[in-house]
This record gives sequence, structure tokens and C-alpha cells, in this order.
Amino acid sequence: MTDRYAVIGNPVAHTLSPRIHAAFARQTSEDIEYGMILAPIGEFASTAERFRAEGGRGLNVTVPFKLDAFAFANRLTERAQSAGAVNTLKFENGKALGDNTDGAGLVADITRLGIGIVGKRILLMGAGGAARGVVLPLLDQKPALVAIANRTVPKAVALAEQWARRGPIRGGSYLDFSDASFDVIINATSASLHGDVPPLSDRTFATAALAYDMVYGKRPTPFLAAARAHGVPHVADGLGMLIEQAAESFYLWRGVRPQTASIIAMLR
Ligand code: NDP
Repeated sequence: MTDRYAVIGNPVAHTLSPRIHAAFARQTSEDIEYGMILAPIGEFASTAERFRAEGGRGLNVTVPFKLDAFAFANRLTERAQSAGAVNTLKFENGKALGDNTDGAGLVADITRLGIGIVGKRILLMGAGGAARGVVLPLLDQKPALVAIANRTVPKAVALAEQWARRGPIRGGSYLDFSDASFDVIINATSASLHGDVPPLSDRTFATAALAYDMVYGKRPTPFLAAARAHGVPHVADGLGMLIEQAAESFYLWRGVRPQTASIIAMLR
């Protein structure tokens, strides 16, 4: 029998997830159907529960329901606990397992780009949901340093303090890190959505090997355009991360890991 999955969000019409998972299913010959659910605000739990009661096997969760999904899950993976948010639910034996695959997706994409995290100095910009989701997966790769810079400085400091026992990590303002050099700069802010670029120093751009923006779109984001203008050799948007986190969800559900490179190329 065909197993049913879906992405749930509000809005949801723009999401690429159905195309990505249909491509994974074709590639791996897994018998799944993947739909799209627009849940009314305030009705995440009842909508997810109905999908499960009707035989649904799992959900991808997008804005604004990742915290609702965290509360909904009966059991959480460590990476979902550390993110404080759930982007993947797996329904099994009447229970919902909550996972967060965003961090694994980011690490997989940076690795695919041939840069990697091991031994590198990483500047992570932002301290919202996206940044929280990737801190532990980044530290697990044994970087030389993860520095978190955020506009609201106490949020960056608190996030760094939370994970200090797991690896070399510091939080502060953009100015605090303006004289330091980094191998990889990751934009986990939503600044690009507003046409803004976080206030980085020329020095930070000058020493970076990779500028990575979690936001993606048809054109380079303002941050990636600035990185290019400063001569950063590699720039990448978050489309690869989106596809890699989807592959990680697919693996959690089906136990099969799809190849992502051809699907990234197709969606480009
Ligand atoms: P949140 O709203 O939780 O956090 C937003 C963050 O951006 C905060 O740190 C905020 O700083 C910062 N910020 C907002 N505007 C500016 C600005 N003009 N200058 C500097 N900093 C700014 O959002 P999320 O963390 O959930 O998401 C961030 C981005 O990541 C989104 O654009 C989202 O689309 C993307 N994303 C992409 C994924 C992918 O698979 N490619 C997966 C998940 C997220 P402050 O704390 O000071 O307000």
C-alpha cells in the first residue's frame, strides 16, 4: 500500500517539498505519496492528528508550526531537543517522533560543496530558530570555533553559553568579531528577506572561503552579492540545505538515503 506523507504549514503553496520528495521516491523506488496541508493558525495539533488518524506516516513541518510540532511530539531526537523545534514528524505505533533535520542538511550541503566544517572557524550570524537548529550539528563536526553574532546580542551570548560544554563556541555582537578571521560565514538571519546584509567588516569577508546564506531564491541574496563583491571564492544559497534536510527526513521515514546532487541540479 502507498504510504502517505505531507508538508504542513501556513502558507504552504510556495514549498518545493512535494517536488523534492516525489523525486526522491522515483529515484529510490519507494512507494510513497507526498502532499501539502494548509493548517489554519492555532489548529496545528488537530490537523496533524487527523492526518495521522487517516493513516499518514509522517509530516514535514514548516513556518509557523515548528514549535507546535515540538509540543505535539511524544518523543524527541537529541537534535530536535537542542533546536527546540521540530521540522519532521514520524508516526509509528500510535506515537509521534519529532526530529529536526535542518542542521544535518546544512552540514551535508557544506560538505557537498567541498569545504567542510572539521577544524574550520565558523561565523554563524543570527540566533533565531534556524541558528538554534544548526549549532549542535556544527559543533559535532569538530570545528576550531563557532562564533555566533546577532543583532540582539544577549540572544547570541545565551545560545553560545547553552552549548559551551559541547565544543569551542562564543557569542557576541558583529563588532566583537569584526577583527577575527573565519573560513565559513553562515547567514542564518532573515535579513536577506528584507534586502539587508548583516554588518560584517571587510576583513571578515576578505578571509572567508565560503559565504553561505540559508535563504534561497532566483537571484543571489544581498549577503551573497556582497560576499562576491568582496571576492569570497565560494558562495551558496540555502537550496542545497533545503534538499539535504529533506533527504534526512526521507531517510528517517524510509531507511533509504536518496542521492541529492541530481535533484539540486534539477531544481536550480
Ligand atoms: P527567526 O525569526 O527565528 O530569527 C531571525 C534572525 O534574523 C534573528 O537572529 C534576527 O536578529 C535576525 N535578523 C532579522 N533581520 C535582521 C537584519 N536586518 N539584520 C541582522 N539580523 C537580522 O527566523 P529563523 O531563524 O527561523 O529563519 C532565518 C532564515 O533562515 C529565514 O529566512 C528562513 O527562510 C531561513 N531558513 C532556511 C532553511 C533552509 O532549509 N534553507 C531552513 C530554516 C530556515 P534579532 O534576534 O536581533 O531579531
